Order: sequence, then C-alpha cells, then structure tokens
Amino acid sequence: MSNIRFSAIEQTFGRKPVKVSEEGMRSELYGKNVFDKKSMLQYLSKEAYMAVKDAVEKGIKISREISDQVAAGMKTWAIAQGATHYTHWFQPLTGFSAEKHDSFFEKLPDGDVLEKFGGGQLVQQEPDASSFPSGGIRNTFEARGYTAWDPTSPAFVYETTLCIPTIFISYTGHALDYKTPLLRSIQALDREATKVMKYFNRNTKKVLPTLGWEQEYFLIDAAFYKSRPDLVMTGRTLLGHAPARGQQLDDHYFGSIPERVLSYMRDLEIESLKLGIPVKTRHNEVAPNQFELAPIFEEANLAVDHNTLLMDIMRKVARRHNFEVLLHEKPFAGINGSGKHNNWSLMTDTGSNLLSPGKTPMKNLEFLTFFINTIKAVNDHEELLRAFIASAGNDHRLGANEAPPAIISVFIGEQLTKVLKQIKNFKEGKLTPDEKTDLKLNIVGKIPEVLLDNTDRNRTSPFAFTGNKFEFRAVGSSANCAGPMFALNTMMAKQLKSFRVEVTKLMENKGMKKDVAIFNVLKSYIKQSERILFEQDGYSDEWEKEAAKRGLSNNKTTPQALKIKLDPRSIALFEEMEVLTREEMEARYEVEIHQYYTQLQIESGVLSDLALNHIIPAAIRYQQQLVQVVSGLKELFGKDYTKYAKEQITLLSEVSDKINRLSSNVRKLKSKLDSAYSMKDSTKVAAFYSEQVKPFFELIRSDADALEMMVNDELWPLTKYREMLFTR
Ligand code: ADP
Ligand code: MG
Repeated sequence: MSNIRFSAIEQTFGRKPVKVSEEGMRSELYGKNVFDKKSMLQYLSKEAYMAVKDAVEKGIKISREISDQVAAGMKTWAIAQGATHYTHWFQPLTGFSAEKHDSFFEKLPDGDVLEKFGGGQLVQQEPDASSFPSGGIRNTFEARGYTAWDPTSPAFVYETTLCIPTIFISYTGHALDYKTPLLRSIQALDREATKVMKYFNRNTKKVLPTLGWEQEYFLIDAAFYKSRPDLVMTGRTLLGHAPARGQQLDDHYFGSIPERVLSYMRDLEIESLKLGIPVKTRHNEVAPNQFELAPIFEEANLAVDHNTLLMDIMRKVARRHNFEVLLHEKPFAGINGSGKHNNWSLMTDTGSNLLSPGKTPMKNLEFLTFFINTIKAVNDHEELLRAFIASAGNDHRLGANEAPPAIISVFIGEQLTKVLKQIKNFKEGKLTPDEKTDLKLNIVGKIPEVLLDNTDRNRTSPFAFTGNKFEFRAVGSSANCAGPMFALNTMMAKQLKSFRVEVTKLMENKGMKKDVAIFNVLKSYIKQSERILFEQDGYSDEWEKEAAKRGLSNNKTTPQALKIKLDPRSIALFEEMEVLTREEMEARYEVEIHQYYTQLQIESGVLSDLALNHIIPAAIRYQQQLVQVVSGLKELFGKDYTKYAKEQITLLSEVSDKINRLSSNVRKLKSKLDSAYSMKDSTKVAAFYSEQVKPFFELIRSDADALEMMVNDELWPLTKYREMLFTR
C-alpha cells in the first residue's frame, strides 16, 4: 500500500505508557497484546523491522521475502501471547468488524505439521465477500473481494486470535469498507495540508488528522435485555412508558458510579489497555444507566480502528458481568440518546497541533489559517457532512427534538467570534508596515490570551471549537467514526487546495507579500462562511427558522439526508481528492439506503409482534377482569350498580378504546408493509418507510404506552423502563 505514514506508528509505538492516577498497573498493561515497536524489535530482524518502518513511513512496498520474515516474527510473538489462530481484521459496511479465523498450523494425517501463516497470508487474503454489503459493486464488476494488510495500524492478539488490520476491496480495487476511503482521505489531507504548511514551516513533512472519540453507551442487566424482544432484535425499545423518575433531577451526571458498573468499567479498561487503546476517562452521562468512555486522542486511522475494536470489547466484557451494552443512538424514548463525539484536529510530524495557537504571530496566523479553512470547508459542505452521520438510529436524535439538531453549524465561542470580526473589518488589499504591525500585534498576536478564556462552551452545537480541536458531536453512538472523519478530511483537503490557489493568485497577480495574501484570503473566507457560525441555542425553534433563512440544510431523515451523496458536486469532490469514485459513492448510497429501510422493516415486524402477541392479549385479559368486576357489581347491586362501578366502567371503556385503536393501527401498518414489499426502487422504498410506515410507530406506541399505565402490573408482559434503567 502506498498511503502509509510513519508518524502514525511512531505515535503508537513510540508513545510513553499512559499514566493514569489510580491504577499503577496501567502502564504495564498498555499495549501488552499489540505487536508494537517493542515487540517488533524483539521478534523481527533489523532488516524486517526497517522494512515495516519504511512501508509505514514512506509507503515502500514490502518484498515477498521480507513479508515472510515479518509473518514469522509476528506468529512467534502471537503464539507467545497465547494465540492459536490468525485473522484479517476489517471493517465492512455492516458497521461491525469482521474476521475469519484460520489456524496457524494444520496437522496432516501422517503427523506432519503444515505451516499456514506466511508472508502471503499476512499481506493479502480472500475472504468470502458475498456476505458483506457492496451496494452492487460486486455484481457489476467481479464477485471476489480481498483484504490487504494496513501496516500503519499494528496487529494485535484479541482473545486467542492474531488480528491483522486490513482494508477490504473488490477484485477491481473498489473500496468495500470504511478503512480504504479513510486512508485515502488521510493521504489527500496530508498532501494538501503539507503544501499549505510550506507558508509557515518548511520543515513540516507530514500532516495527519487526529481523532479523540468519546463513546456514550447504556448498560442494561442481561436478564432484562433478554426479556425484551425489541432490544434483542432492533437494539432499541419500541415500546415503554417513561419512568416517573427520568433525568429531571440530573442526578446521574457525574454522580457516583454503581459498584457493579464500576467493576465492568475496570475490566473494560484493562482489556482496552492491553490492546493498546489509551482509554482515559469514564463517567456517568445525563440519563440513568448511561455512561461514557474516552481515550487519549490518536492519529485518525488508529483511533478509528480502536473505536471499532472497543465497541466489540464492550459487548464481550459486558456479558462477563451479566450486562448488555446498548450502543443504539436512542434505546429509550423520553431519555437522552447516545452519541459519539469526534474530536478532530491536525497534527504535524513534529507533533505540532495546527488548531492550537502559539507564541509567535506566525504560529497564530498558521492557527487562523487552519481554523478558518475548517470553518469554510464545513460551510461549503454542511449538507454533505450531515449525510455522513445519517442512519435510522441517529434520526431519533438529529431532528427529533434532541441534541444536536440536524442542522450543521459551527460554534467558536465569543472570543474567537470577536477575532474573526476584527479581521473581517480590517483593511483589504496591501498593507503598510504600520498596518501590518497593528494586525500582527493587536489581532493575530492576541489570540492565545483570548483563547485561555475560552470557557463558554455551547453544548447544543453539532460542530464546536473547543480550544485546540473541533468537536463533531452529531455522530451516532453506534457509527463507525471513519465515515464522518473521511468526509471531513476530504472537505478539508479540497478546501486547503483552493486556499493555496487563491493565496498564490494574490501573490502573483497583486504582488502581495505571503502573509498579507493569506490574511486577505482568510478575510474573504470569513465573509463567505458567516452563515455557518452560530453561537446560540441549537435546539430552539428560532434557530430552525433562522437556519432556513441562511440557506442551511435541515434534513431530518436519513433518506432526505443521503440524497446529497449522489449530487454531482459531492461526487466531483470525492473524485478530485481521490477518496471515492463515482461507483463507490453510488454503491455506498445503495448500502446505506438499504440498511435504513431494512432497519425500519425489522422494527415494523417486531413492533407488530409485540403489539399483537404481547400487549393486546395482556390488555384483553385486563379488560376481561374489568368486565367481570362490572358484571359482578351489577349482580350485587342491581340497577344501582353504576354508582359503584363508575370508575371501572370508565377504565373499561378507555382500555377498550385503546385496544381497538391499537389493533386498527397495527393492521394499517401491516398493509403499508405489504405495499412496500412490492416496491423495487430502493430510494423510493426508503422514502416510503420514512414517510408512510414510521408514523405508525408513534401511533402504536402511544396507545401501548398508555395501556402500560392502566393495565394491572401483574399482567404486563414486558419489562418496564423503571425496572431496566436503575441498575445498582
Ligand atoms: P474536555 O474538557 O471536553 O473533556 P479534553 O481535552 O479532555 O476536553 O478532550 C476531550 C476529547 O478530545 C478526548 O477524547 C481527547 O482525546 C480529545 N482531544 C484532545 N486533544 C485533541 C486533539 N488535538 N485532536 C483530537 N482529539 C483531541
Ligand atoms: Mg465531548
């Protein structure tokens, strides 16, 4: 692979062990199961080690002979860690990681042992691609797909398997996974950002995006989880009345973590650390039983692998503690959903953060350059960025009265708003020496002081600057971070390319000095990007109106949001940056649209089942009890009976009404599903599910949840929210 960088591996391999206060063993555990620099030096010849290093650093291909050596060293190391099998570990468009385990050795009938892991197996494999989504790419081109080693993300031993991070592509080279476009976007961003860096620091050889994710999740007792078919089948509760005590008291946030949960968290952290995931913070979230885990940030490719791996570890460790972890964006109605904040920045090979201001005016102009170019990139592609966080699950957060809204805007804080305003109002064109000094000292030079005071964080913003990085908060909790990250990298790469063209133009045509030209271009960007900057409450109705006036998109559903991916402008962007081709874009659109309506299809099926086979029968039994009571009272009291049975009769009629309406809505839902089955065009199917099917979910739910409040608790067939949500 050509798109390989060394600083990534150096960051991982060269990083000092994480020091986290409470557990001294952390540093010992860290990276224990990772084939990192230390293990490589121990298990590889110098020649093999240097070859891997060169592959990562300079994209130099590893020869067959050397890859045999690397494989042998890796295998010996892995076996010493207790591994018996190996697998290519990749991230297909299902959203989960995929593996196909093979044994290192095979015993032949005559007692001989056949070695099954050499350079060939390390570098490339051909898994059965047919079971993974391809959006038609395999049909159009060629059925086979293969996985290829990504040496920038170190191999690791997970349980008893050596896992080798790989890309997954079709035989024709089309990306079938998340990692391929991510690596391509990192390469594009590196190319463009390094060129821009020539204005500031000629020594910069590489620029890499960094990612620090924050993963939110719910924990539910495993027995409760299993008792809810909706959780098991769809990842969320389709029914359930909110408990009397929800999150009104906000007492869960930063409160003490229950002992049983703490023990899960400890175990999870130990497993994560062993696998080289530098987990750092843990705390309660706003909702009951909701928690968060965040690591120290890393180079984006590695951070994405680590998040994907973490989601898998979370599930496995949870089972050991009789918990089930819920990664769905909205497992419970009426209670906060879960997101995955993606903290993103740019870092040079010398370890300098480009979104962090510094001591000199030049460093601050560099900061402003990357800061304003990010804003411009988001401004120009806000709708596309929204498309990259779209999913059936995330629709319950974005655009459903819950944070953040479906409108993308950028929050930068009061102080930086002032700085941008000063720049916008500063004189245009060439500057006299005095004017230049004024600019440098009084505007650009003051940024670091100004930023120290950057405390006014706006929690409602989907894309916020938080001092030395941007935080993209609208990513769904179950999403693969790669999607939004490669979209952002690509937009930024394109933006930096345009920036350089414009600066060059001013220098060549107008005879401007470099810094004055940069300043003039930034000034024009501020004017052009004003509509994306928003500092107030992102949840308010006023913002929806205001955003519409500003021409910002507000796509509340996945089918609406995904459309922009097929727009010629979007395709041109990804093709120009060599991140995705038209075919790949179209294929991904197909996969996502299909995933969307399949999810709704499953939810529809489970919901009708719950309503017909669980809720209605329970309600009818209760109805029957009421009928018995009423007729008993009638027998006892004769024509005066209504005096005694008044409440019971009211209740009976209410319960009966709800049963009738519920049954009728389920019937209507089923007939809608029948119509959907005969539809062919996937875009139309998705729109149909979103507009015609989904509204019935709410209707059915409102009657079912009302019945939950009326029907005798003894008869209620489903575990209730109040039972599930207060694990101690
Ligand atoms: P907060 O006060 O919001 O908790 P932190 O500095 O602890 O801020 O950062 C929160 C998240 O941001 C962490 O996951 C951290 O790793 C990540 N982060 C910090 N700096 C960067 C950076 N330069 N690039 C990417 N992510 C970063
Ligand atoms: Mg955050």
